[in-house]
Amino acid sequence: MVGIRDFQNLMRTIYFERDRERGVPITYAWLVSEVGELARALIRGSKPLIAEEVADVLAWLLSLCNLLGIDAEKAAYEKYGKGCPRCGSIPCVCRTGKPGNF
Ligand SMILES: [Zn+2]
Repeated sequence: MVGIRDFQNLMRTIYFERDRERGVPITYAWLVSEVGELARALIRGSKPLIAEEVADVLAWLLSLCNLLGIDAEKAAYEKYGKGCPRCGSIPCVCRTGKPGNF
């Protein structure tokens, strides 16, 4: 079992050269494409397929972070590590309860 940072490093080791050749705009397009595939998997309701698409979405997001020089684990914990960024509570007590929704 690894954390987000370890997985991001793994993605860098496996894909960074190809990611760099592809560039940010196309890598972002692939991420969005994978989000669409996740939506289709959710509609089908197949948990193994959903899990596979979650892995792809995460992999493409971390590839994008590698290209942008963003430490995804650090960014996520800086924003959400102390609870909801809006109300500061764990769990969130905001009326909407949507992550990042201000
Ligand atoms: Zn909240």
